[in-house]
Amino acid sequence: MAASHLQCKECKTSYELEALYVCDRCFGPLEVVYDHDGLAHDVAELRRRIQGGPQNIWRYADFLPLAGGPPGPSGRLASRVGLPAGCTPLIRADRLAKRLGLREVWVKNDAANPTHSFKDRVVSVATTRARELGYETIACASTGNLANSVAAHGAALGLESYVFIPADLEEQKVLATGIYGTRLVGVRGSYDDVNRLCTELCAEREWAFVNINLRPYYAEGSKTLAFEIAEQLGWELPDRCVVPVASGSLFTKIARGFEEWTELGLLSGGQPRMNGAQAEGCSPVASAFAEGHDVCRPVRPDTIAKSLAIGNPADGPYALELARTSGGAVDAVSDEEIRAGIALLAQTTGIFTETAGGVTTAVLAKLAERGDIDPDERVVLVITGEGLKTLDAVRGTFETHTIEPTLESFEHGVRQQILL
Ligand SMILES: *Cc1c(COP(=O)(O)O)cnc(C)c1O
Ligand SMILES: [Zn+2]
Repeated sequence: MAASHLQCKECKTSYELEALYVCDRCFGPLEVVYDHDGLAHDVAELRRRIQGGPQNIWRYADFLPLAGGPPGPSGRLASRVGLPAGCTPLIRADRLAKRLGLREVWVKNDAANPTHSFKDRVVSVATTRARELGYETIACASTGNLANSVAAHGAALGLESYVFIPADLEEQKVLATGIYGTRLVGVRGSYDDVNRLCTELCAEREWAFVNINLRPYYAEGSKTLAFEIAEQLGWELPDRCVVPVASGSLFTKIARGFEEWTELGLLSGGQPRMNGAQAEGCSPVASAFAEGHDVCRPVRPDTIAKSLAIGNPADGPYALELARTSGGAVDAVSDEEIRAGIALLAQTTGIFTETAGGVTTAVLAKLAERGDIDPDERVVLVITGEGLKTLDAVRGTFETHTIEPTLESFEHGVRQQILL
């Protein structure tokens, strides 16, 4: 395996590649460290090896913390069954770009994953590692999409699963979780309450909580989004990425993916500017960015963007540092702007995203309007979830014209209204 050990992000103490997530010495988060000496040093050969892999995230297995079997002819990852994520479309969005006065905008549509959000990437990696470590039960604390993905992966792999969600989650996300036969627990409280409860449970049970004790492995799954973007752009880096921020894990790991491939010579050039996107109703990272703080003040979320509603983001300080050092920013938009963002993306690209994608699109629009984006930049907009999961957000935003099934009714009634 390419991963060599876990390391504390703060004090650099090393740990074995077990189900550990917090440093005994300083309580800092643990992160996977790799030893890529075994990889081909010839860039062309390394690229060919990636391109010869399966059409899913396992083509990037050399850069993930998994053991797996030896390389085989039909994809080296025969042992990694389940619900393959990744290889989602990267679409050049010229109509959206034109509307915003930009030259080159690409939409990475991660709603096109098995359970319709980017969470399948992180859950696939965490669940595979959990199996390697001998766990028979997976679990999570979720704002919604993680619940869908953990329940589905449990079903696909024949593992028991426990899913903990805030009791007031969107109905679509609850239904699209329970159907997989998981043990679904609604907790009266916010996501941060759910997370606290699960952290306590984690110490009591022999379960693999994908985003708690398996978090170092989970987080690595997000790097595959960066790898795919670079590969789909013909082994080139974008100039800027706009990414939603909940805990800040996705945001920081996309940047880490680009860096890792640049260090290995697979990519060249300056690293992209990283722009984080939050909802005003839960914007601890955007507020700290605006105020020039290094840490985030926890907030109590109140926004339609429930999948991003983490009031106390674990990777907040790292997200702030990344936004500053990359020349990006973290911005927040109102619920009204989120709805407008959903409509803008739908009407210029044909992609219907959930509220998190409305946040991201609205932040891109805000950056363009503010003149923060050079017109020649190549920008990637990361869309992380599916619109059918948050239908309430768009209810009542347009009209259906109802008529009798006759030409006359069409001509005399609706036609005037529609055409005028
Ligand atoms: C979980 C999630 C995110 C971001 O999560 P992080 O905790 O910041 O990694 C973004 N969009 C959607 C739709 C999500 O479900
Ligand atoms: Zn430490």
